[in-house]
Amino acid sequence: MVVPLRSFHDFTRDELSALVASWNFSPVHAARLWSYVYNDGVRRWADMPEVPARLCGRLEAEISLALPPVTAEAHSTDGFTRKYLLALGDGRRIETVLMRFTGRVTACISSQAGCAMGCVFCATGQMGFARHLTPGEIVAQVMHIDGVLRKSDRDAPQAKSVRTSPPARHERLRNIVLMGMGEPLHNYEAVMRAVDILRDQNGPAIGAKHITLSTVGVIPGIVRLADEARPIQLAVSLHAATQAERAALVPVAQRWPLDALMDACRYYVGKQQRRIFFEWTLIAGRNDTTEQAHAVGRLLRGLQAQVNLIPLNPTRNYDGAPTDHGTARRFQEILTGYGLPSTVRQRRGIDIAAGCGQLATAR
Ligand code: SAH
Ligand code: SF4
Repeated sequence: MVVPLRSFHDFTRDELSALVASWNFSPVHAARLWSYVYNDGVRRWADMPEVPARLCGRLEAEISLALPPVTAEAHSTDGFTRKYLLALGDGRRIETVLMRFTGRVTACISSQAGCAMGCVFCATGQMGFARHLTPGEIVAQVMHIDGVLRKSDRDAPQAKSVRTSPPARHERLRNIVLMGMGEPLHNYEAVMRAVDILRDQNGPAIGAKHITLSTVGVIPGIVRLADEARPIQLAVSLHAATQAERAALVPVAQRWPLDALMDACRYYVGKQQRRIFFEWTLIAGRNDTTEQAHAVGRLLRGLQAQVNLIPLNPTRNYDGAPTDHGTARRFQEILTGYGLPSTVRQRRGIDIAAGCGQLATAR
């Protein structure tokens, strides 16, 4: 029987050191391996000249550096969004998106293949749950985006003039949002392990403040995140300010009702001393009314919060329509009246089926 290789990206730096030590090599080599992969973007053991040949042979036989292959790719016409469909070892497909808005490079990554939460407007919810991703599969998505950035830097035309300063390092990925396919707090252990690898100062070194986890409102996960020392940003997908309306859009609200969710959010803000983001998918005539805007203003009053309003991306199995710009602005003004900061996210890249799970569904 062929034993599948373990993925390099499943290892924390300490675990890699322990593995290398168990093979009777100095931990110095583990630090070098880590740096080759995460700092220099090297993707083959044979391309690491400072690693002893015997160690290379062992790595070649036991640890894989492979990234999931791209099976479909779409670039938005405005040039700001690139979406990739990646094939996992078992043939499942997940989406990873590279976004370049307002000068920031952000990767939107998936935490599960499919999703069990069943939100009615979400393409991933409509496809159902397949499985949790491993930490390595989560980190690998970031490495894929890192590779894309390095490649576009290599492919960029070089200036003809003589350089007077060292060449700039490639455009670096600094922001990660766990807003792709899946519910990250339903896959807590693997997601947090991936987050810890991504935060490693000698590795990808993504600042905790630049990692945002979006949840549908899995209360035990929010409480656990509040209690642990991992200062990432939290976004809660609210979508409605009353229990009945929310449960109609987000079925798991029956299990984790709005009142208890708000208690968990207040606990999080108190414990972490950090504001919470609330995501609100704007659906025309459904949750974009002035009554809903006032209800959310009252619900979140006094909480350190920001609301991100996102007009619906229409999906195949949901007949709602996105809110128009004027209505979104009026909704926002009502929130401002309650002292609640908010943003209206533009539906960029709509032409590449940029909504969560939509490229996978299209295939
Ligand atoms: N499961 C997590 C994270 C993934 S979904 C969550 O639900 O928060 C990321 C965000 O995309 C959520 O706020 C979700 O409500 C939103 N979303 C999903 N489908 C959408 C669609 N068709 N149009 C607009 N927003 C959508
Ligand atoms: Fe799952 Fe989030 Fe989609 Fe809801 S919106 S089905 S929680 S991925």
